[in-house]
Amino acid sequence: MRRLSILSIFCLLIAASSLMGQDYAAFFTDSTMRVDYYHTGTDTSEIYSLDQVCLEGPWPGSKTRCIDVLGLGKYLAQVHDFETGQLLFSTSYNTVFGEWQTTAEAIAGIPRTMHETVRFPFPKKPVKLVISSRDRRNAFSERFTTVIDPHSRFIHREVKHLPFKVTQVLFNGDPAQKVDVLILGDGYTQKESKLFLDDVERYQKRLFSVSPFRERRQDFNVRAIQAVSPESGIDDPRAGVWKNNLLGTTYNSLDLQRYVLTLENRAVRDIAALAPYDAICIIFNAPGYGGGGIYNWYSTCYAGKSKEIPEWWSLYVFVHEFGHSFAGLGDEYYSSDVAYNEFYPLGIEPVDPNLTALLDPENIKWKHMIQPGTPLPTPWGKALYDSLSQSLRTAGADRKPILARMDSIRTAIPVSRVGAYEGAGYASNGLYRPAIDCIMFSKNIVPFCPVCEQAINRVIDTLVK
Ligand SMILES: [Zn+2]
Repeated sequence: MRRLSILSIFCLLIAASSLMGQDYAAFFTDSTMRVDYYHTGTDTSEIYSLDQVCLEGPWPGSKTRCIDVLGLGKYLAQVHDFETGQLLFSTSYNTVFGEWQTTAEAIAGIPRTMHETVRFPFPKKPVKLVISSRDRRNAFSERFTTVIDPHSRFIHREVKHLPFKVTQVLFNGDPAQKVDVLILGDGYTQKESKLFLDDVERYQKRLFSVSPFRERRQDFNVRAIQAVSPESGIDDPRAGVWKNNLLGTTYNSLDLQRYVLTLENRAVRDIAALAPYDAICIIFNAPGYGGGGIYNWYSTCYAGKSKEIPEWWSLYVFVHEFGHSFAGLGDEYYSSDVAYNEFYPLGIEPVDPNLTALLDPENIKWKHMIQPGTPLPTPWGKALYDSLSQSLRTAGADRKPILARMDSIRTAIPVSRVGAYEGAGYASNGLYRPAIDCIMFSKNIVPFCPVCEQAINRVIDTLVK
């Protein structure tokens, strides 16, 4: 593990030196290059094949920080100058394919194909695109390489005229110096346009009421696209509900009822290209509890209202899922049924900034935030919490007193007391979270823990300069 850490630091140093020597205008235009590819495989195999290369609108990302220094994703796309080999740009991200690889279907050896995209500033000269993915030990290996000549006649340059309106919800300045959040609606019909804009308003207000987004509001632009679906609502396969919704979001993704994703990458990318974006949030017009978040790709959240579910739950889900997609935060909870098989391999340090396997307590990744004298692991009443959680499953109508006791355990220690609290990342043992509670841990009126807050601030910092 320590060897891996040293390697990571070495990679970051290389990245930093590439960045310093780079002059954006010498290598890139102000536009965006989009590369679409197919990602095929099983749990242990993967093949990439090129689909198309497109010219898109203004580059919304930073023009001074073109090299990813956070390393939060399972995948790494690097763009090198073809002539000199100099690293010009890199971005790290996650995919639905990567999550699917841990499901029973993939482990059974049944191959699947998913469509994916990498975007980077449009180069002036030929570049080499290299895509790498991490193995189960989190080491990167190169999987796909292609050379792209920006003057090629095979690059799609047409401007797509889609009949959807872009609404500016919050504007603070040049997209290259701001975080550009794009909210897309799925399952909203033409008649439900006002409902969509009302929902956008509710969610963006909620996001900027939570630290650190509240303090960093001036660093954000928010836009919404009224992408009209032919039918109202989204697919819910377990309920036998099938809808003709434009972006293809569906309940029961990876066979987990409340997990809502879309595999319609091309549809989402085509529509999103109408506006500059660093982050996409898809709100879908259905009342069933659900959402999802894929780092550096998109988050989803239900927006419909029902009598059974309190309204604040959906606002909570919106922020929680944005934590995944925007800052690569891992789930800090561990009690829920999930479709993954050992999502975080035992004995391997997760790359998520808010999870640790505590393999080296002396050098825990959020060490600088821990007060001296804090025991690691940090005791927090886990045994009682787990037994209460267990009895909740058979409690029937008597849930309130049990929930109250669980609340009292979770609030007995301030969220600000950073340590290593066992139980995180879908594992009751062997994985640790930074604080007793956090938006990434429990569905309660609770802030992001200090470590998650810092991780979010770091991502904002990479996009605003
Ligand atoms: Zn947290």
